[in-house]
Amino acid sequence: MNDLNPSGWRPSLGTAEPVTKTGNRALELEEPLIFEIGDAARCGVDFDACEGDILPGLRLRAAPVDVPGLSEPETVRHYTRLSRQNYAIDLGLFPLGSCTMKHNPRLNEKVARMPGFAAVHPLQPQSSVEGALTVIAELADWLVQLTGMAAVAMSPKAGAHGELCGLLAIRAALEARGEAATRRVILVPESAHGTNPATAAFAGFGVATIPAGPDGRVDLAALLARLGPDVAGVMVTNPNTCGLFERDLKTIADAVHAAGGYVYCDGANFNAIVGRVRPGDLGVDAMHINLHKTFSTPHGGGGPGAGPVVLSAALAPHAPLPYVVRDPDGRPRLVESAAERPETFGRMCAFHGQMGMFTRALAYILTHGADGLAQVSGDAVLNANYVLARLRDVLDAPFAKTGLCMHEALFSDAGFADGFSTLDLAKGLIDEGFHPMTVYFPLVVHGAMLIEPTETESRAGLDQFIAAMRSLADRARAGDESLHTAPHFAPRRRLDETLAARKPRLVWTAP
Ligand SMILES: *Cc1c(COP(=O)(O)O)cnc(C)c1O
Repeated sequence: MNDLNPSGWRPSLGTAEPVTKTGNRALELEEPLIFEIGDAARCGVDFDACEGDILPGLRLRAAPVDVPGLSEPETVRHYTRLSRQNYAIDLGLFPLGSCTMKHNPRLNEKVARMPGFAAVHPLQPQSSVEGALTVIAELADWLVQLTGMAAVAMSPKAGAHGELCGLLAIRAALEARGEAATRRVILVPESAHGTNPATAAFAGFGVATIPAGPDGRVDLAALLARLGPDVAGVMVTNPNTCGLFERDLKTIADAVHAAGGYVYCDGANFNAIVGRVRPGDLGVDAMHINLHKTFSTPHGGGGPGAGPVVLSAALAPHAPLPYVVRDPDGRPRLVESAAERPETFGRMCAFHGQMGMFTRALAYILTHGADGLAQVSGDAVLNANYVLARLRDVLDAPFAKTGLCMHEALFSDAGFADGFSTLDLAKGLIDEGFHPMTVYFPLVVHGAMLIEPTETESRAGLDQFIAAMRSLADRARAGDESLHTAPHFAPRRRLDETLAARKPRLVWTAP
């Protein structure tokens, strides 16, 4: 028990022995909850004692507010200690597939913190925020150019929010055609990101699942067979979540259009094709772009993000408000009223989107330029194929046994010793000093491991990761019992994740 731990809270150490008195292990510092170390009597700020009534009729508290009080240095140390138990892209390679965790250039941060962008208020008069509007308009121009689409809705705040925007635009287009009541179904491949069917259901559509073929791509024949007068559209991820390019997307789009539906493309994996393929050329009607993936900007733990949606000419009139346009003199202006855009489906959010993400994404785009962005996708795909090629002899690669992948490499648990799972390997990776890859997704592969190295990793960094993965694959195949109890060196040992998810303890109670 140390001074900051009066309740007698006991750390559970990663290794059983030897135990230190404080629970700390050299630079790895244990940290109680703020409720356990705080004291309502302590405060980081000194207020002048008040004389008399500050406000007439002021209601004074009878008892102190029960919040943890800490001095300023104690507060800083508390959060710094916690942060050191976290893994971050600034610490090492973050192999999470489907997440595009890449280095965030510090220049982005400098630009995002410029007061003219950072301190802007959404209710300021337009004439006082022309610079901010110009950033939105310029970024919008880039996104439209890079995707070959007609327009872009900038306000959605995440990929999933963008999916909702796209489907609401599709619904509005169907309403305008008088077919909203009959076209009620969205086709979603079984390899889709979980947000796709969830979004379709949330937007009021039924979901029909389309199987994947043996090669990991959408089963074209099954999709074509399901088209009909009840189909509102299709949601396809390209490149898909098996790390493969959907070569049939143009054929799919043509058939869906001929059948009266629309094509939504989940563009979260745009990093693999940016500067090389324009989704507009493939017949896509709507696609969200995760600015926080493809165009850097820090993300993880739920935010912040931005999910602008590029739209085809067919859907553009239905884009949500507000909307940036350029007046004839080139000045950007926000369209905020439905009077100017009668076919809009409404609003996604109160204001104009995520200014901080816009500035970061535009800074990233401008530092790379068009040729640099093409190199981003080239290097990302090269890095993923390097990982695939160096691990293929020790891990089963179901859809790329001899071929190539796009920006992420997918493996299965085939070949592991009896009783050894993807979870064991992932936990072992923590001991090796890496954040685990995405596991058990996509669902179409047993014990899936999805690895996306991104373009910002060096060959030396990849070699280190590959060496760790090869060692873990060998241990899983040989049935090394110690893998079952990994991680051994993390601040916490293996957690009961099922129990934590099913019976979360959301309220702290005093011991
Ligand atoms: C990340 C991701 C999403 C969702 O994006 P958010 O910004 O997290 O809402 C959707 N689809 C795919 C394929 C993704 O990788």
